Amino acid sequence: SEEILYQSEKLSAVGQLAAGIAHEIRNPLTSLKGFLQLIEKTGEGKKEYFDIMKSEFGRIEQILNELLILSKPQTTKNEICDLDGLLGHIVTLLNTQAIIKNIYITKDIMNTPLEIEGVSNQIKQVFINFIKNAIEAMDQGEITVKARKEDNFVVIEVIDEGCGIPKSLLSKVGEPFFTTKEKGTGLGLMVSYQIIEDHGGDINVKSEEGEGTTFTIRLPAYEKVYIKQ
Ligand code: ADP
Ligand code: MG
Repeated sequence: SEEILYQSEKLSAVGQLAAGIAHEIRNPLTSLKGFLQLIEKTGEGKKEYFDIMKSEFGRIEQILNELLILSKPQTTKNEICDLDGLLGHIVTLLNTQAIIKNIYITKDIMNTPLEIEGVSNQIKQVFINFIKNAIEAMDQGEITVKARKEDNFVVIEVIDEGCGIPKSLLSKVGEPFFTTKEKGTGLGLMVSYQIIEDHGGDINVKSEEGEGTTFTIRLPAYEKVYIKQ
């Protein structure tokens, strides 16, 4: 029946994720074990061994941190988030990293207030993920974060002038552990998609190889409810 099909699809998605996690964590663990054995055998812990080991531990930590976000919705509470302020903080924060690469992030807010109801730390994480990806896709140039109200939605666009995503890879983007980066986790977009879905929104992507990418995020606007006396 339909219900069983749905359940088995769900299980296979969880199974896929579990296999991915196991694989991604086993690699740095294997390397860590190797270095420990090397140090044990030679009796000498060179600085370069420790540097690699630290970066392998860091990788495991990064994967777990990103996955932990997925388990948070049940324990956090909703609040009214002002997106103008939230995006302002993130843009200021990330500009300090972007400027080193000659990348400038600008914020373009069409109308205020732009309010949504949700978990502000998660929403922050989503925009940090998108803007970080934009920075990583560019050598230099401009990233524009546009936000406006459209009907009962707040629409946010993150527009970059980066390498773009080849058409053949567009459907892979957002799958757990899909990454084209040497140090990527391939979890940022999956986590972001999950958070936006939890908030009743959706995400669209438009990309042109060599030209740039635009991610469009739509979230239900918070509407004040007035009670007539
Ligand atoms: P990660 O950043 O760790 O690779 P993500 O889930 O954030 O993982 O992104 C997955 C992949 O999607 C990236 O490795 C990259 O290939 C592609 N991608 C995401 N955002 C962009 C972007 N703005 N421009 C080009 N490619 C992107
Ligand atoms: Mg990323």
